[in-house]
Amino acid sequence: MLIWQNSTTLQCLLCKTVPDSIPHLFCDCQYSREVWTTVCALCNFQTADINLQQIIANQIPRLQSKHIQLDIERLALAATVYFIWRERNSRHHNGGTLPHTKLAMEVFKTLKARLCGIPLKWSSPMEDLCKRWKIPRPSNWPTPDNIHHDA
Ligand SMILES: [Zn+2]
Repeated sequence: MLIWQNSTTLQCLLCKTVPDSIPHLFCDCQYSREVWTTVCALCNFQTADINLQQIIANQIPRLQSKHIQLDIERLALAATVYFIWRERNSRHHNGGTLPHTKLAMEVFKTLKARLCGIPLKWSSPMEDLCKRWKIPRPSNWPTPDNIHHDA
């Protein structure tokens, strides 16, 4: 919050409709909501939640979960918050202005790169996710023939 006390900007730099504040930025800002909704659409998430604060609150009890889908949602959320924050600072320093669709695409690309860089354990939902996101199938995964035998 101290950051804002020294800020000379009065309006939110993302939506330019209301005063700038952290609660606004991550809860009410139309731009942030649109970024998150687009990220959810790109990632095929089922979530109907578009209130980021509520999502963050909902995520906390899930952090212990071993379920890959929840881990990915958590990664997506962290990346979204990071990119929204970066976009806000970029605008503050007169950097470029990205439309919400471009920012959401950057979040999605970052997420994909992240998943390509970690060892992924095979599971049926993971297989689906790799197909949907066009992530190369890890070479140590069972071949489709073996999957039928194991299942
Ligand atoms: Zn705003």
